[in-house]
Amino acid sequence: MKISIKLGFWFFICIFIIEASSMFFLHRNVVHSLVNEELEALKSRGNSHSDVIEISYDEATLQHIKIMESQTDTEVVITDYVGKIITSSKTLDKSMDKILKRNMAEHILSNNGVIIQSDLHDEQYISTVSPFKTENGDIGFVYMFKSTEQIQNVISRLNEHFILASVLILFLMLFTIFFLSRALTKPLISMKEATRRMSKGDFSVSLPKTSSDEIGELSDSIQTLANDLNYLRKERNEFLAGISHELRTPLTYIKGYTDIARRNNLSEKDRLNYLNIIYEESNHIDNLLKELFDLAKMDQNNFSISKEKVNICLFMHSIFRKMEPAFESKGVKLEFICKKNAYVNIDPIRFEQVFLNLLDNALKYSDTNTLTTIEIKNEEDSINILVKDQGSGIPTEDIPYIFDRLYRVDKSRSRLTGGFGLGLSIVKEIVEAHCGIISVESQLNSGTCFKIILKGLD
Ligand code: ADP
Repeated sequence: MKISIKLGFWFFICIFIIEASSMFFLHRNVVHSLVNEELEALKSRGNSHSDVIEISYDEATLQHIKIMESQTDTEVVITDYVGKIITSSKTLDKSMDKILKRNMAEHILSNNGVIIQSDLHDEQYISTVSPFKTENGDIGFVYMFKSTEQIQNVISRLNEHFILASVLILFLMLFTIFFLSRALTKPLISMKEATRRMSKGDFSVSLPKTSSDEIGELSDSIQTLANDLNYLRKERNEFLAGISHELRTPLTYIKGYTDIARRNNLSEKDRLNYLNIIYEESNHIDNLLKELFDLAKMDQNNFSISKEKVNICLFMHSIFRKMEPAFESKGVKLEFICKKNAYVNIDPIRFEQVFLNLLDNALKYSDTNTLTTIEIKNEEDSINILVKDQGSGIPTEDIPYIFDRLYRVDKSRSRLTGGFGLGLSIVKEIVEAHCGIISVESQLNSGTCFKIILKGLD
């Protein structure tokens, strides 16, 4: 069932129950007070007659009361103490007779009059009685009657109004529910449509900006998801294109040199030379595949990290010792500064990969007679490790992208330096997997400084 119909249906049921019950109670109260008012009016009319009789009990007064009542929609019957009729505004009928025959002795003491018949449904009259006592001691009763039919007529007119009002409210309610449920479900329907398209691989959805409530937030989230997926797909395509490009170049070399190396008329020296090139290019592909494999593992969260408490000075010094010969042979000075010992919780194997990568880059992009420094600084609640070189530096516009996969500043130099633009993205993934932060500061032609911030251990 459609959500708008479902929502509309439940709205309708709830509001209908509320409307029906309030109409029911309202109607009951109105009828009740209407009948009460009629009875009170009848009683006070009877009381005023009895008051007049008490003041002047004579034929003229009785006649006057009789005439007065015969001109109205109420009837009066005046009886003496034993129930003998003294006068009446109308010839008595059966139901009046039945009421008169009731024992009225108990009402003698009531000065205010009493309602003796209030049933609207089974009787022809509602009725009250007001006793009177004349100056010379005569006791009697003034009975007042009003036809229930008249009151029923008023009630049925009232019912008509109630029915009309209910139908009108019902109609307005249906109208409101129709538009309200449509307005509420419209953004949901467009979100459903958007997710359906996304599930089929179409991420170019554009959801309208709606309200700032929960539905609006949901719509924003779906839009962000679509944008992210779109971006990821684009990135994946670019990445695949980049990888195939990276593979194509060494493979072309391998193919070309294999062709030449197969020739019969080739000297052993040349053949060895070509085979060496083929070997280097195979190594190149091997390295690329290793880095790609590492990245793939990180993406799948298959990347195991076994942290341990490491003395950072000793750890970095061992890396310094490992890299020093390479720096020396290029004529680049490698310096190590660690003033105070500190401990960090890291995976030493992964972090060795991080620093070998950073130092390898420093070496790659440094000229002879420059200085590269490894420095460990103890901050208040963190350990900062800096790898600072005086190399070629990175152009400011490239800095935001150097941690992106396959991003290289100088694409043409890649074959000389042997980089694929994957090293720093791996470095970043490892550092972040340790909840660390990596940042870079660089100035073209003057040097680069990578800073890794790790949480220190006491
Ligand atoms: P690559 O394997 O190509 O070096 P990286 O991901 O390690 O890839 O680095 C990305 C790019 O960042 C490099 O192509 C290089 O241009 C730049 N870069 C990284 N480290 C340095 C550095 N120390 N000095 C100058 N440029 C650097």
